[in-house]
Amino acid sequence: MTDRSLPPPLRAVRTAARCPVCSKDVVAGYRPFCSKRCADIDLGRWLKEGYRIETEEGPSEDDPEAAGPSGQGG
Ligand SMILES: [Zn+2]
Repeated sequence: MTDRSLPPPLRAVRTAARCPVCSKDVVAGYRPFCSKRCADIDLGRWLKEGYRIETEEGPSEDDPEAAGPSGQGG
């Protein structure tokens, strides 16, 4: 028998991929999701984030000292 130095069997990198939406087994066709449904859900989620329009709504507080220093003299 010839002892051939074969490389060790590469372990199949089985990443425990789970659907980020429902934590189910990921389907190759819908990676990284388990189904189109979940893909849509995730897509909708981040779309919502994008829809959020940044508005500069500052607190409209009237300064108590509206009137400036009025010099009254005579
Ligand atoms: Zn899913």
